[in-house]
Amino acid sequence: MIDEIVLATGNKGKVKEFAGLLHGIAGKITGLGDLESPPEVVEDGETFMENALKKARAIAEYSGKPALADDSGLAVDALDGRPGVYSARYAGEKATDGENIDKLLGELGDAQNRKARFVCFLALVTPEGQETVVSGECEGVILSERRGSGGFGYDPVFYLPEYGKTMAEITPDLKNRISHRARAAEKLARILREEPSGT
Ligand code: IMP
Repeated sequence: MIDEIVLATGNKGKVKEFAGLLHGIAGKITGLGDLESPPEVVEDGETFMENALKKARAIAEYSGKPALADDSGLAVDALDGRPGVYSARYAGEKATDGENIDKLLGELGDAQNRKARFVCFLALVTPEGQETVVSGECEGVILSERRGSGGFGYDPVFYLPEYGKTMAEITPDLKNRISHRARAAEKLARILREEPSGT
């Protein structure tokens, strides 16, 4: 078991979520909030993988501990994978979730092909420079109107045909089992369990 993994996020919700997902893999999951003046990492990569690696490398170097970073977003087939790495700022630098959804629905118009996927890349980097990258996806369809009030981001228009509900209508518990983040974390946990001394 790894003694401690520092999650390259200041978001306490994410720290808690990953602590659950990586249960039994790390003795302790901490976040940027537990470090003194951690470096600010600009997410200017062109891919989710680049961004995740950039954050994890910076925090592993700064903290001297294994660091885990994630980068995720929405990729829509009819938009050639957009908004992709720009998901959080699709409608502008300080765009709200609502503005981003409006922009997405505008771009998609009445397109017939509404297939999309949430994608998450996770990078675990040790201070010695060992790097493990995994990804997870969750497939769905973009609705033309919002449904549900749970979740965040694009959840109200992301419809899961298998469940007959949007990501904003399912329980947080179910989301934590089927999400792109959960799937990526499961893969990472599997790898770390197989190579307990690898990191
Ligand atoms: P982050 O990399 O987790 O910060 O996600 C970047 C952006 O992708 C978010 O601001 C959301 O717009 C979108 N996103 C990522 N994960 C989800 C999700 O589970 N539901 C809805 N939107 C998401």
